[in-house]
Amino acid sequence: MTVRVGEIVIDRVLEMEIPFLLPADAFPRTDVAEAIEKHRHWLEPSAMCAETGMLIIAIQTWIIRTPKHLILVDTCIGCDKTNHYFKDWHQRSDTHWYQALLAKGINPAEVDYVFCTHLHGDHCGWNTRLIDGRWVPTFPNAKYIIAKDEVDHVAAGNTPAYQESVLPCIETGQVMAVDTGFTLDDQVWLEPTIGHTPGHVAVHLQSRGEKAILCGDLIHSPLQCLYPQWEYWIDFDPKQAVQTRKHFLETQSETNNLILTAHFPSPSMGFVDASENAFRFRFLT
Ligand SMILES: [Zn+2]
Repeated sequence: MTVRVGEIVIDRVLEMEIPFLLPADAFPRTDVAEAIEKHRHWLEPSAMCAETGMLIIAIQTWIIRTPKHLILVDTCIGCDKTNHYFKDWHQRSDTHWYQALLAKGINPAEVDYVFCTHLHGDHCGWNTRLIDGRWVPTFPNAKYIIAKDEVDHVAAGNTPAYQESVLPCIETGQVMAVDTGFTLDDQVWLEPTIGHTPGHVAVHLQSRGEKAILCGDLIHSPLQCLYPQWEYWIDFDPKQAVQTRKHFLETQSETNNLILTAHFPSPSMGFVDASENAFRFRFLT
């Protein structure tokens, strides 16, 4: 589904959309059973698998065409990458994401910017490809925009994502390690949204009075609109992540801002409505 925000055209490429984690594993510090029963009627089948009871997540790249730039936001898992968390993500050989990108008429050499909201393995994998035993930037002429705090964090941990998906782009001079409040131009800028990771950012788009925000992993499931206090299992600083999530939902609630999520089920975009003491996600239809 292609959407427009003023002059900006937004599309996406899915790498996968699958039952992923049981709610009790996604939110291990919360007793979620009662809430799941209460909301099962709308969670199934698109946001929760009726058979396995697992939350369904999408893994995807947003394609942003402004009048000036071709931008990708987050680059999924990729191929041949090391992943210690999920064996299905480890050393994948499925190239359909890349084929789908080409099929949308995107020439990798024409991508101007690749933004990574953060550097978990499902957000920077296609930054590079393994070619003849070397990691090579997938987008040879792009600048990779990543918060400096995030780059420093994964560099200090020397994570596989750093070694395989970031360092090769630093070595070619393509990484711009920026402030979390970085502004590209009057249509594209960052908002610091730390907590999930130390340098997590949201990407704001604005054109002709319309706005969209790519919120990355500050929220993982539409359930967290109703329960923003639920801490996600892999949040780096769970308390800060809750603060960030609440602030984001309060700020976006009852606006016409289109929220482009990283992991909500398709179409993964919509609006934040106020609901009782919390919020509700109204998917774009
Ligand atoms: Zn993620």
